[in-house]
Amino acid sequence: MLNEEQAKKIKHEILKQIESFPENQRKQAREQIEAMNPEELEQFLVKNKMMKEAGEEIETGKQECVFCLILQGKVPGYKLDENSGSLAILEINPLSKGHSLIISKNHDKLSNQAFSLANKISKKIKSKLKPEEVKIESGKVLGHELINIIPIYKNIKLEKRKADEKELILLQDKLKTAKREKKEKKTQEIKKIIIKAPRRIP
Ligand SMILES: [Zn+2]
Repeated sequence: MLNEEQAKKIKHEILKQIESFPENQRKQAREQIEAMNPEELEQFLVKNKMMKEAGEEIETGKQECVFCLILQGKVPGYKLDENSGSLAILEINPLSKGHSLIISKNHDKLSNQAFSLANKISKKIKSKLKPEEVKIESGKVLGHELINIIPIYKNIKLEKRKADEKELILLQDKLKTAKREKKEKKTQEIKKIIIKAPRRIP
């Protein structure tokens, strides 16, 4: 287990490594790193294969990124929906209620699938949470291509904070695509096909 002092040193090292990021992404990455307690930091390092023993060494070069690990199911996420090119999850350090991320299944490239999932989630947020508007921003975080979906509410400033688990579970329940919805959709599609089929005239 890392102590506070070690955690502080390691955070400092990681923050140095992300200095080459564009300003807006650097800010987000920095806040995420700074918000971690020593235990979370240790888990983050181990999962990213950045720690060999007791926080002594940080490997540079290619590391598995936390978003790739979420995609592999090795790091848990509050999943909302998924398609062939992307995965939608809740941001655990949201700027506003319902702030979600569309993680590209390809670390380096965003597909059209990711944008279509972003639109779908944005519509869902609009109907369920009634924000004034929803901002959609694409960019890299820790090197991984993703899309931020940020609801904007009247008279509420955007401010990054740590969401508690209960809140995230409630939001996940509201925003996720229920299995029943998918089933209903399928039934509707089948009905459509049946209706579309030309009738035979005897
Ligand atoms: Zn990645």
